[in-house]
Amino acid sequence: MYCQRCGSLNDDDALFCNECGAPCDDALHNPFAAPAFPSTQEVVHDYLVPNILATILAACCLGVWGVTVGIIGICFSSFALERKRKGDWEEARAKAKTAKILFFVTLGIGLPALICILGIKGLLFFLQSKVSI
Ligand SMILES: [Zn+2]
Repeated sequence: MYCQRCGSLNDDDALFCNECGAPCDDALHNPFAAPAFPSTQEVVHDYLVPNILATILAACCLGVWGVTVGIIGICFSSFALERKRKGDWEEARAKAKTAKILFFVTLGIGLPALICILGIKGLLFFLQSKVSI
């Protein structure tokens, strides 16, 4: 790498410049370099909002059963959120993974139920309009 101060070429793993002695770890001095936070922060998604939306959907279509599965998902999302706040990334990721699975389970039971209800309503509407003609 090239020295930030004098521009002379140094080894990539050099800590200080051979020519001027300036520190070579440019991440410490460059504000645009990689952030100090671990990159895992962006990877862990707590699925709180999707879980809440899926719960509302499931609650509308399935009542108590939809709510039960949805609330477990919301719980795991908040666990993941709490772990993230404490910096416990490993545990946060594990909880987020469960929250994600529960989100798809809630959506998986809520969405077909919604389609069924809409389908039946549509069919009834269609039959009614047929009868009235
Ligand atoms: Zn230098």
